Order: sequence, then C-alpha cells, then structure tokens
Amino acid sequence: MARVNTVLGPIAVEELGFTSIHEHIGYGMPGSELDTRWWKSPEQRYEETVPKLREYKEKGGSSYVDATGICNGRDVNYYQSLSEKTGVNIVACTGFVGGDTALKHFADAEVQYLADQFIHEITVGVGSTGGKAGIIKVGVSRGFKMTPLDLRIYRAAARAAVATGVPIITHLAVDSAPALEIFGEEGMDVNRVLFGHADDGVSQGKVDEEGLLAAGGRIGFDTFGYDLELPDPPFWGRHRDERFQHLMRFLRAGQADRVLVAADANCSPLGWPGVKGHTINYLFDQLIPDLKADGVDDATIEQLFVGNVVDFFTPKN
Ligand SMILES: [Zn+2]
Repeated sequence: MARVNTVLGPIAVEELGFTSIHEHIGYGMPGSELDTRWWKSPEQRYEETVPKLREYKEKGGSSYVDATGICNGRDVNYYQSLSEKTGVNIVACTGFVGGDTALKHFADAEVQYLADQFIHEITVGVGSTGGKAGIIKVGVSRGFKMTPLDLRIYRAAARAAVATGVPIITHLAVDSAPALEIFGEEGMDVNRVLFGHADDGVSQGKVDEEGLLAAGGRIGFDTFGYDLELPDPPFWGRHRDERFQHLMRFLRAGQADRVLVAADANCSPLGWPGVKGHTINYLFDQLIPDLKADGVDDATIEQLFVGNVVDFFTPKN
C-alpha cells in the first residue's frame, strides 16, 4: 500500500481523505523573518491559523498539503503542533517555490547537491524536526520564463522524485516545454507532476494546457478564491466566474481525472499583509456549492478532492 509522509509520520494514501493539494500555513519572502516590523508571536500565529484548520476539519477537510518551500517560512515543528491540535494531516514539501526564492547557499548549488537535499528531507527529515517531506515544490521565477536556476531545481526535483517516489507540484504552469524536456531526461513520470496555478489571472494565455495534458501532466486549479471580486484583490486575481468556468470546461470534457483543486490560501502571512477574506474554507463555502449548483455530482467532487489526490500520491511502478 502506498504511503505518504505527513509531518507526524507516514500514513496510507487511503487515509488522506478530503485534501487540498496546495496551501500555506505561513508564507513569506526569504528574509522576512529578519524584519522586526513583521515578527509575529507564537500566540498570534496560532490564533490566526488554528481556527481556519479547525473549521476546515469540521467542514469535512482531512488533509492539507503545505506548498511552502525551503526559504519561504516553512516551519515543520510548528506544522507538527498544528496537526496535533487540529487533527488535520499536514504534508510538508521540500524544494523551492521558484529559483528567485532560493537563498544564495542553494542558488549556487549544483543539481546533485539540491537533489541530495530534497532526498534527505523526504527520507531522513527536515532538519532536526523528525518530520519528513511528502512532496517536492518547484517553480518558475517571476517573469514567466524559466531561469537557469529554475531549470537546475526542476532537474534536482525530478531526480529526487524518481529516487523516492514522491510527486512534484509546480508554482506556475507557464514555459512548460523546458520542464517537460527535463522530466523526460530524468525519467520522471509526468503524471506525478501537478502543473500548478494554471487557473490564475496572470497566467491566462501563457499555459500550454494541451501540451501538458498530452504529456500526461496534471493541471492545477489551485488558486481558487483569489477573486477580483475581493475588496483588495492581488495582482494574480481573476474573476470568480471566469476561473470557475475554466474548471468546468475540464469537467465537461471528461478530464476530471487530470485536475487537482486548491485555494493556495495563506493562513498567517509572514512579512506582508496577506489577502484578507481568503481562506482554505473557500473550497467548502463557495466552490463546492458552485459546483453542485452547476450540476456536478458528488462522485465528481469526491474524485477532485480525494480520488485524484490518492492517485497523485501513489507511485505507478
Ligand atoms: Zn502557493
């Protein structure tokens, strides 16, 4: 039986239950922890985060994938205590949100060094926490074009994924041709790669959905809730109905098995104000009612949040 690392230890993939595949307990840019204006006390962080996770659990959420990479405020000890308090399984990632968030130590490193770092965090643990990563994060730096460092990180991630059997999640689905080339060269099964943020406002017209699907990749509708209808929407926001109809096109085309869905919400932003009014619970409060109102049946909703996640975390050979 396939297993997935949570921060409290491995569980069977069948135990994941309802899972949001791309979220953040606390996300900040590298160095934000050095900015005294933004220090949050442990009490503040718990106060901002625990109620959101409890509500998620009450509404039917079971597992939570934290897509915060190395250098962006990832804190596995904290995730462990949150998981113990709330009962939500938390899967932490290794890897980087993008080359442009990797600090110099890693930015200067060779591919194999990065691969060894990822493998260590998956098989031994993250630092001294005892918690192991369950997924690898990679991404395209600002500018919608892969940088040489992005490419090294993608190659290292593919190497680590092949060695350990964990899947890969990407920040942005743009400029995917070089990514697919690297995955091919490293023997990475592209069906174990979620090309994320294919649904965000700034990526529209820049994602080769057909190419990704033809290669076997999965498409991430994982910024649900960053709606331009919010009072102070972020630059990557999109009109709510436009994003929803984009997902519906996949469902109507019989491609429900190719997509994964999440809110990319930041429970407790580090070093920036965050987007007010957006939490993981958008999935239950807005998206699932919208899906039902549009005639999507319970089995398909279950597939999006449970079945597809199990399949994504299950090695194929
Ligand atoms: Zn994210």
